[in-house]
Amino acid sequence: MGEEIKRRLTRRIYVGGIPIGGGAPIAVQSMTNTDTRDVESTICQIRELVEAGCQLVRLAVPDMEAAEAFGRIRRRVKTPLIADIHFDHRLALASIEEGADGLRINPGTMAGESAVAKVAKAAISRKIPIRVGVNSGSLPRDILKKHGGPSPSALVEGALKQLEFLESLGVEQIKVSLKSSHVITTIRSYEMLSERVDYPLHLGVTEAGTLISGTVKSAIGIGQLLYKGIGDTFRVSLTRPPVEEVKVAFEILRALDIRHRGPEIISCPTCGRCEIDLFSLVAEVEKALAGIEHSPRIAIMGCVVNGPGEAKEADVGIAGGRGHGLLFKKGHVVRKIPEAELARALVDEVMSLAGEYSGDL
Ligand code: SF4
Repeated sequence: MGEEIKRRLTRRIYVGGIPIGGGAPIAVQSMTNTDTRDVESTICQIRELVEAGCQLVRLAVPDMEAAEAFGRIRRRVKTPLIADIHFDHRLALASIEEGADGLRINPGTMAGESAVAKVAKAAISRKIPIRVGVNSGSLPRDILKKHGGPSPSALVEGALKQLEFLESLGVEQIKVSLKSSHVITTIRSYEMLSERVDYPLHLGVTEAGTLISGTVKSAIGIGQLLYKGIGDTFRVSLTRPPVEEVKVAFEILRALDIRHRGPEIISCPTCGRCEIDLFSLVAEVEKALAGIEHSPRIAIMGCVVNGPGEAKEADVGIAGGRGHGLLFKKGHVVRKIPEAELARALVDEVMSLAGEYSGDL
């Protein structure tokens, strides 16, 4: 097991009932990609995200119709919902009226200080937090000029200015994000900001990309920061259905031994020694166990070279042979099983460990 990560202490805020910062467990969040005005589809996606473990869900509120739909959605789900607002402060005010549990705004894109002041006043009176989202793509010109581009110091200065302004309005429930699509800029920016302020930090690499590139960027960027104890909540951004963002988020937490959710499947890459169809077996087992919350360690190995060793270390394991596999449970061989029955046998053993049963296979 990994060493324990010492987290930087930040202030505690609440988004709905979810504590953020101040030593609270790191909260996983995502954002719907449905049209918020399509209430049924959005609720359906929120439920899917929550089933995957997502604790906070953000919705885009691009117009008044979406703000009104936000309220209807808010009244039908329990999960805290954050309204994502750009440009028009009236959308923020309407979302607060409709029951938003948090706001994500970029004060720099709102027209004038009085507009932000109105939003701040409404948020304070409803006790809801504001996330200051500073993005390398929307830094003010003067800051860009001073720092020669969207460098970490430029992002930090942008954030400090916005924080100073919100503080002057009396806002205390604040979290901050500093987003860049460049991983090293992201890491450096959060490191620098965490030295300067004790607001809870929302981590993310913006516009991270496709499943492979986005997962790698997020795992390195978010993972590095979490390993250093920086970050109180995070979102993995992928150009994929948002439920996959949540799955990647939990794999990042698992890799760092921060939190385990769902089974951990350890499988070999296969090589010329493999004599069973391991790819299909792994896919079948993964599908059958999707959604279970306990986190057994499952080894699925292609042959007897490394197979028995890994399989013995796992809660449940298989080491493949020619047309069959050896099933292990808690370090002991249970029995030899024909290849066609391996997936079912493995899933049954996992379910019996959890006292659950899946009929998916
Ligand atoms: S466990 Fe066997 S099949 Fe899998 S990679 Fe190792 S040697 Fe190859």
